[in-house]
Amino acid sequence: MELSRLDGPALNDPLQITHAHQRRYRHVRSAHFLRVPLAMMSLAAGIVGLIVNALDLTITFGPGGAALGTHPMTALLIIMLSVGLLHFRLARPTPIWRYWIGICALCMVLMNLIRPDVIHDAFLSLAATADSRMGQDTSVILGVLFGSVVIRRTSRRLGLALVLLATTLIVFSFMGHSYDVHYLDGQMALTTLVALVPATFAVLTIYAHHPILRLMLASDENGTRTRTMVLIGFIVPWFGGLVLYLGYGVPDRAYPVEAMVLSVIACSMIAISLYSGLMQERADRSRREVERQLAFAAVHDRLTGTLNRAGLNNVLKQRWDRFRSTGRAVGVVLMDLDHFKTVNDTYGHPAGDSLLAAVGAALSPILRSTDIIGRWGGEEFVIVLSSVDQPKLESIAERMRLAVKDLPRVISEQNDDTVVPFQVSASFGIGVFRPEDESEADALKRADIALYRAKAGGRDRVMFQDSDDQPSAA
Ligand code: GH3
Ligand code: MG
Ligand code: MG
Repeated sequence: MELSRLDGPALNDPLQITHAHQRRYRHVRSAHFLRVPLAMMSLAAGIVGLIVNALDLTITFGPGGAALGTHPMTALLIIMLSVGLLHFRLARPTPIWRYWIGICALCMVLMNLIRPDVIHDAFLSLAATADSRMGQDTSVILGVLFGSVVIRRTSRRLGLALVLLATTLIVFSFMGHSYDVHYLDGQMALTTLVALVPATFAVLTIYAHHPILRLMLASDENGTRTRTMVLIGFIVPWFGGLVLYLGYGVPDRAYPVEAMVLSVIACSMIAISLYSGLMQERADRSRREVERQLAFAAVHDRLTGTLNRAGLNNVLKQRWDRFRSTGRAVGVVLMDLDHFKTVNDTYGHPAGDSLLAAVGAALSPILRSTDIIGRWGGEEFVIVLSSVDQPKLESIAERMRLAVKDLPRVISEQNDDTVVPFQVSASFGIGVFRPEDESEADALKRADIALYRAKAGGRDRVMFQDSDDQPSAA
């Protein structure tokens, strides 16, 4: 048994901390499962975009009227991205062929940004109308989404920055659509937007473990507050814009300054909410760490690293409750180092301290993971053992007795310059829980009586409780 495991199921079980962490971020796991349906939605929208072009359907979506159907190259890239996302496995490295597909897509997007006329001409025969072209905003969004997927193993930060940029552009585009205005070089088709929204969310799920996104998915108070702030930060400026544009009719300008400003405000509000949530999360984490340390200190003994009296009382109470409900045998061993005062007087207090400090580690190999050791006070230790009968208890105590006698050798081997007492021994008294007991303290009292007999009998020995050892006699 390792020393770190000596704390038992008390207040500060590291497993409980892990469970708390898992509970707080349980939606992060769910986000990964969402990737497939999101990619399917985007794939479906991409296929619709392609069909619209193949059937020469001049569907005009949204504002502006002319040629707002998804450009065939956009549809093609969306399909490539969606298929890539459907096959994406977080734990597996990206196969090399996917890098090449991603790089090809990036080149196509780049080409559209530098020479849109070349792309326009190349896809002219596939496009439903001659006016149809791939918008610059669509190019940038698709480019950063492909880049984000391709780069996620090389640079997680850059990958996240790219997908956040795509999200920002999607917000801009969504707001532009709802206000019926064009900025960012025209307006992307509604089918493109319908495909890019789930595609962006699907890429975001790849980074769900990152603190920024994890925060948005956290099921604690900070997570809820951040989500609410992000939502309000987006809805208020967006709705304000709707009132301005649809209610009051903002004058038609060459460049929709109001929509742009409102989009910037919405994105800034979202960024501020996330930043504030992250700061809060950082403060919460240090608070939790301090709480963890305090909880640990409350039930542990500094010198020996074992449980202290309060910790032991917790464990004894737990075991007593379990004994009452299941009848599972529990043995309580009280160990007292012999003539410890003489050790201090002869070799000095520091030598006594190093002896005490070594006790937990010396006894731990003898104990099972469910056994608990703690310092009851001074040079007395309590060991709580479950599911063991009298012969087994006595044999474990006997092994502990021999381990204590071996302590001077172990300490001198480990620390060359420490003064080590020449001879060390301990006496042991064992008590077991009995159904007629009133509380866990009764077995401890019987162990104390047995220990007294061990001392009186000459020390350095193990004594089991007598059938006539009554707690009231103590
Ligand atoms: P016995 O065999 O009867 O148990 O004799 P003893 O000397 O061990 O018992 P006693 O109760 O007379 O003395 C206990 C000693 O343990 C006295 C005290 O100075 C010492 N002690 C208690 N806590 C510590 C500690 O944290 N460090 C050191 N070095 N000594 C301690
Ligand atoms: Mg004592
Ligand atoms: Mg003693």
